[in-house]
Amino acid sequence: MIMNTNEISGKRQMEFLAGFDYIREAGTAGEEKAAALIQETLSSFGVESRLEEFSFDTFQIKKAKLTITEPYTKEYTVTGYGRCANTAEDGLKAPFVYAENGDDISLAQVKGKIVMVNDPVRKDMYQKLVKAGAVGFISIAGSPLDEGVDLIPRAYGLPKNLPGEEKKAAGKEAQNYDNRIPGVSIHYKDAIELVTKGASQVCLVVEQETVTRTSRNVVAQIEGTDKAEEILTLTAHYDSVQEGPGAYDNMSGGAIIMELCRYFQAHRPRRTMEFIWFGAEEKGLLGSQSYIKVHESELSAHRFNMNVDLAGQLVGGTVVGVTGDASVCNMITYMAHEIGIGMSTKNQIWGSDSNTFAWKGIPAMTLNRDGFGMHTRHDTIALLSDWSLERSAILLGYIADRLGNIDSFPFERKVPEEFIAQLDEYFG
Ligand SMILES: [Zn+2]
Repeated sequence: MIMNTNEISGKRQMEFLAGFDYIREAGTAGEEKAAALIQETLSSFGVESRLEEFSFDTFQIKKAKLTITEPYTKEYTVTGYGRCANTAEDGLKAPFVYAENGDDISLAQVKGKIVMVNDPVRKDMYQKLVKAGAVGFISIAGSPLDEGVDLIPRAYGLPKNLPGEEKKAAGKEAQNYDNRIPGVSIHYKDAIELVTKGASQVCLVVEQETVTRTSRNVVAQIEGTDKAEEILTLTAHYDSVQEGPGAYDNMSGGAIIMELCRYFQAHRPRRTMEFIWFGAEEKGLLGSQSYIKVHESELSAHRFNMNVDLAGQLVGGTVVGVTGDASVCNMITYMAHEIGIGMSTKNQIWGSDSNTFAWKGIPAMTLNRDGFGMHTRHDTIALLSDWSLERSAILLGYIADRLGNIDSFPFERKVPEEFIAQLDEYFG
């Protein structure tokens, strides 16, 4: 028996999504409210669920200030970096230099200075800056087209662990990062002014601290009929970044798996299907990390993870990223041909919760669609489309239906060595 795709509704997914048009950053009241609404929706069609809470450490910026002291005096709006050093209360005073993309020629001139670079400072650039003797950094955010609230530079955080530093226990952070250097993000238009007006001496103030927050996964299970001991997961993260309400990234995915949970509740599959709405994905896949720890003893029963991250906008194309044997790409492509829904596949690791499953040796996929405005305040439900949601839900549902009901599972519970090696590095 083949899935009845007429029962999948994009309109119903849009109605569900209307309840989530707010910021759901992990560990905030918004995320908690969203988890409650997911549970309420599940029980409205008779599916029981449970909350699985976990705590995590994150940073909170308390103060960030950049003042030019020579050859003019002006204070600029900046945003402090998470997990950077705190400056002295009256600030760090040093000469200023603009080092563009942080090439070796520019970096030869940064010793003892506060250095401005073009892109967000991540692991590699941070290490280059420290090695070159910089005492602080400024990175440029935004675009010359920005106005109004968009002139506030966006926030970034340095990695928890950096090579050469003593490794911190997973999930736990040191109380401070005082052996690092301090850094801030500045808007593009202000960056231009600094260089044009010849800023030469600056004073930088940053104060940030580590705080512990609680997030939660919502887990619902539909027990299989005669192959219940084998588990398939359908997953999507429901938290957002702090910059916007994450409709496309990724409440859309949350709506797609909700629609499929409703379908499979009415059409019970032979294998067990577990539906999981992950919290704190945007903080580094923390919800799925917590899940595999709590459910460690059951993981040998898991056959395949079907994750959705980024979906629902009309203009776009769908890619299924498969972290598993290349034959799984062919199988999924075949199914997409059968159902007549356009997509392509990529056989690689994928920066979403599917990586967590693949790392444990469980073949995994992420359904992903191009779209506009990820991680900005423009990522709202106004840009979502029932047409797109319906098609993605049908595609994912068709794959889940075939795999949930087939006599013998068509691929091994195995992830190629090369992906495991990449995932070791990714999570390392
Ligand atoms: Zn996402």
